[in-house]
Amino acid sequence: MSGLSIRKLYKAYGAVTAVKGVDLEIGEGELVVLLGPSGCGKTTTLRCIAGLEDITDGSISIGDRVVSEKGRSLPPEQREIGMVFQSYAIWPHMTVAENVAFGLKLKNLPKPEIESRVRSALELVGLTGYSSRHVSQLSGGQQQRVALARAMALEPRILLFDEPLSNLDAKLREKMRFELRQIQQRLGITSVYVTHDQQEAMVIADRIVLMRNGVIEQMGAPEDLYHRPKTLFAAEFVGLANIYSGEARGGEVRIANGPVLKSSGAASGAVDIVFRPEQVRVSSEQPADATNALRATVKESYFLGNIEDLILTVEGIDIRTQLSPAEHRASGSSLWISIPPEAIILLPRGGQMEEAA
Ligand code: ADP
Ligand code: MG
Repeated sequence: MSGLSIRKLYKAYGAVTAVKGVDLEIGEGELVVLLGPSGCGKTTTLRCIAGLEDITDGSISIGDRVVSEKGRSLPPEQREIGMVFQSYAIWPHMTVAENVAFGLKLKNLPKPEIESRVRSALELVGLTGYSSRHVSQLSGGQQQRVALARAMALEPRILLFDEPLSNLDAKLREKMRFELRQIQQRLGITSVYVTHDQQEAMVIADRIVLMRNGVIEQMGAPEDLYHRPKTLFAAEFVGLANIYSGEARGGEVRIANGPVLKSSGAASGAVDIVFRPEQVRVSSEQPADATNALRATVKESYFLGNIEDLILTVEGIDIRTQLSPAEHRASGSSLWISIPPEAIILLPRGGQMEEAA
């Protein structure tokens, strides 16, 4: 097994520079998710790692071997990489076992070795007993597991995933997230996983690398990105957020055309103000602790089964919150909210938060 090291990676297609100086160290056995909107350079980065693209500048190493640098590129088949894509790219006319064995036969491995690898790969993805089925008889989720088994049977040093769940229906996609995570944990193979779906990223990742316009915007554990976004883009892309502009001074922040709130951040001047819906506490009576306690009216209320989504009107601004449906609040009702000062994230407007010293 190996780690992966990407240094100052640039990739240009003619006038378009898709990746602009990505620096990323991935530890042995780590699962890193490249997250970001369409066109931000996720697939290009992955294709560079796989050796499917020559790089424009920088370097990529697998373990301590440089596999890509300017003007020199180790071909994909020599990189010991497994790949799983959105389109499963499995052979419809072959059985499950034939599909999984395909790459192993190309490598001219002895027959007993092929059989044993196919068996353990199918066991790993929960398809024992399916080996002689034709893949056309399988569901989408099962077909994607065949693709995963085929990648793993090659015993790669690195696994690469590009939106592997995008073609599945919503329910299956949600279930497969947990499965993929469990399989990767069991195997402990260093993995890079591309998605534009922030919830998928949060379930699967050890570490999320948020990309924007070919550069890394922020990286960290899912909890870091969610609770400590460094930019407005990060705050908006990962999770739901209430976002306002305002002015901060002396531990207080004034939301433009809205209330003044106490905050624990030290920022001053023009800021963007961010807090998460679930941080807003709701009560029928005025809270005993008056800090950031405000009267609110329910403007809209939506029942979503596991939660109730509320849009509140508070001193001229809208605040979104989510409650347990057991706490149901009808449109038009009045209530009290409070927002803990430590839940309020202040970002210098249009800029980036200073690293804490
Ligand atoms: P993502 O996977 O994050 O959606 P991509 O890496 O596919 O983004 O694309 C990043 C940028 O590079 C986009 O602007 C895209 O149009 C451009 N791009 C990708 N592949 C090519 C190519 N083969 N030729 C020209 N431009 C490309
Ligand atoms: Mg892509």
